[in-house]
Amino acid sequence: MRSAECEAVIRAFATRERLAIRKAGLNSAFRNPHSAFRAMLRITEIFHSIQGESTHSGRRCAFVRLAGCNLRCSWCDSAYTFTGGERMELEAVLAKVRSYGCDLVEVTGGEPLAQVECLDLIRALCDEGFEVLVETSGSIDIEPVDRRAKLILDVKCPGSGEAERNHWPNLDKLLPHDEVKFVIAGRADYEWSRDLVATRALAESNTVLFSPVWSAMGIKELATWMIEDRVPARLQTQLHKHIWGADVHGV
Ligand code: SF4
Repeated sequence: MRSAECEAVIRAFATRERLAIRKAGLNSAFRNPHSAFRAMLRITEIFHSIQGESTHSGRRCAFVRLAGCNLRCSWCDSAYTFTGGERMELEAVLAKVRSYGCDLVEVTGGEPLAQVECLDLIRALCDEGFEVLVETSGSIDIEPVDRRAKLILDVKCPGSGEAERNHWPNLDKLLPHDEVKFVIAGRADYEWSRDLVATRALAESNTVLFSPVWSAMGIKELATWMIEDRVPARLQTQLHKHIWGADVHGV
């Protein structure tokens, strides 16, 4: 067997073992450093910066960006996560996060939940007392996520080209501390989002965020529409892009 095939077989076996152990309620085995199946994650980058989105915008935050994504949004600004990444043990990721001395941690991607080991990471961060944000595309079931973590759940608009991948039952599983985000590429996306917020009464239970696609529409235009229609959502910009520049990674 070639080494890549070999690694894929080992990974599949380890994942199956982890799922079986989790089902049996023996998940603490993964925090045992002598466990044969220590969780490994594929990581694009870990860094310390300012949170640029959600109601937590402006706070110091440690970011763990997992590699890989199951979607291909037309306007994606994180395509560099699609391939590559460094394989790291869970404990090494935790050590790096601890080194920043920062209470707030965001687990993001790519699509972090596309790696089943991400569930162990989220749980371990919560166990250590971090305030944990999970930024997810909304295409993967959130049921197994440790609900001490706060989800920033995307609803993919038609302009993304991935609206059919929305996992709609997720909207019924949100907790009050979770936030729902619409990334809007133009008028059609805006009207679709506005109507969905109204029909699902999303703002009654969660903070709803409207964010313009950085490269596709102006924030003033979106603000004007929201004011005209009295939309019960919160306008956000990507603060980190204002600070560091639109194409800068790892800050
Ligand atoms: S879900 Fe996020 S990382 Fe994945 S393609 Fe869409 S914007 Fe990019």
